Amino acid sequence: MREMQLVVLGAAGRMGRLLLRAVIEDPSCRLASAVVRPNATLLGEDAGTLAGLPPAHVALTADLEAALDGADGVLDFTTPDVTAKAAPLVAARGLVHVVGTTGLGPPDYHALRLAARSGRVVQSGNTSLGVNVLAGLVREAAARLGAGWDIEIVEMHHRMKVDAPSGTALLLGEAAAEGRGIALSERSVRARDGHAGVRRDGDIGFACLRGGTVVGDHVVVIAGRGERIELAHRAEDRGLFARGAVRAALWARDQEPGCYGMADVLGLRSG
Ligand code: NAD
Repeated sequence: MREMQLVVLGAAGRMGRLLLRAVIEDPSCRLASAVVRPNATLLGEDAGTLAGLPPAHVALTADLEAALDGADGVLDFTTPDVTAKAAPLVAARGLVHVVGTTGLGPPDYHALRLAARSGRVVQSGNTSLGVNVLAGLVREAAARLGAGWDIEIVEMHHRMKVDAPSGTALLLGEAAAEGRGIALSERSVRARDGHAGVRRDGDIGFACLRGGTVVGDHVVVIAGRGERIELAHRAEDRGLFARGAVRAALWARDQEPGCYGMADVLGLRSG
């Protein structure tokens, strides 16, 4: 099959550079274009060099519309306003739009839903293949084991992380809640301190550790009477999100227009 021609939007960002590398290094795709914000100082520089690789002979551009000509898809890890503006342009050409941008609000989701009428949108706040498979395992385990099994989610991240629990811990909590058929918002326990009382059946607890340079560790403990399951994922570098995004784009190439998630990419969606 012909290599998939991919555009990296937000190429100068931390994720953008990793996306450039992931596209250049994947033999199934080709870097069609690399788009940076208007007036960026890096305009005209080589995308391969920016990714720390040999020259790719693709100059950084700020012209998204021109970049889309001849492309098959866009990898977009930018900001909500950039994503929402790009969505109709990408969809008008019927292309694949992989959206890794987080912090999307209702109007942004609306723009993506409209775009999904003609384009193929894959949106996920976590494009890690491993984390999404883990979420599927957690959902399955929670569905099969009753509320008498206690679910606790332990995460550890580097000392600079400012939010807690991590988005991934919450994603895993949502998967557990979904498996149990309950709303996480009603059963999550974010902190325990002092005389916190005994654990309530059905609660989903979170514990957050911070220190050093840990990219992201998550362990889901499912504890029953006399036995315990531990499902763990350890992220070693942020490139995994970029590689997951490339996998999503390659998968979406063969799909009908619509809005998809990583569970679809991995074939984890039930029913
Ligand atoms: P970043 O700030 O380093 O990168 C964003 C880039 O977008 C910047 O280089 C900025 O100049 C560029 N940009 C802004 N306006 C633009 C425009 N009009 N055209 C082209 N580029 C433009 O941030 P980051 O750490 O790379 O993260 C980017 C996004 O990806 C965030 O929302 C982050 O939370 C998300 N993220 C998602 C995942 C995931 O798995 N889905 C993983 C990591 C990060």
